[in-house]
Order: sequence, then structure tokens, then C-alpha cells
Amino acid sequence: MPAGKRFLQLITFMGCSPHIRFEPRDADDDDYCFIRILEYEHPRLLRSQNSRTPGCPHCRKPAVADWSLLENPQKTTLSCQHCGALSRPEELRWNNDAGMARLFIEINSIFPGEAQPVESLMQHLQKETGCEWRYFYLLQEKG
Ligand SMILES: [Zn+2]
Repeated sequence: MPAGKRFLQLITFMGCSPHIRFEPRDADDDDYCFIRILEYEHPRLLRSQNSRTPGCPHCRKPAVADWSLLENPQKTTLSCQHCGALSRPEELRWNNDAGMARLFIEINSIFPGEAQPVESLMQHLQKETGCEWRYFYLLQEKG
């Protein structure tokens, strides 16, 4: 769906003059700013080549050796590879480069760190859905 009229009030852009295109150049262009809602029946991990595995809430070291342990949606608790503490995926210390959820709001064509949601948007999402929201950046896979 296209970004709405209030988009630039709900997302803060770093830097002085962001060059954001809200319209595709042609029918094949998908490198413009649009919004997609991604909803899944079970929690899903979204990550890209820049993502680091989340940290343990107890010892703060990377809780898992690799992503495969988080890609299994049946897995509800994980044992930290360093201290052995048990944590649920939502308790891990996620970086701003990956996330796990059933519902995502994807904003396309924003570079990592280029923009962030304003606090009132995060509060509004929390109020409307009854759960906490966070944001992260993925690198777009080309080709
Ligand atoms: Zn640990």
C-alpha cells in the first residue's frame, strides 16, 4: 500500500533532505517507499545479511551460536550457549537488525539507520495491539 499522508510525521528521517520516492519509476520498480503488513500464524524470524544473533538477557553474550535455533517456530525456550540460562525469544536482547513476531509493518526502501519511528507511533501501536513494538532494519536482498 502507498505511504499515507502523515507518514513523514510518524517517521523521523536522519540527515537534512531525505530523497524518498513514494511512487515507482515504472512497473518493474520496487525500490521505492511503500508499506506492507506481514502477518503470520506463528512467530517468524526476519533477518538479513547484516543481522547479529540476539544476546542473552542474563550474561549479555550471544545467546545462540547460529540463527537455526531461532528459525524453528516450535522452539519456545532457548538455553544460552554461554551461561545456560533459559529465555523465551522475546526476552532476548535483540539488536536493531533482526526481529521475531507474528505481525510486521514493513517500510520498503529505507537504508539502515536512515529513519526511525517517532515515539508516539510506537505508543499508539502498543495501545492498539496491547503488546510492545520495536523496530529494526534489514538489508534488501538484491536479485
Ligand atoms: Zn547467557
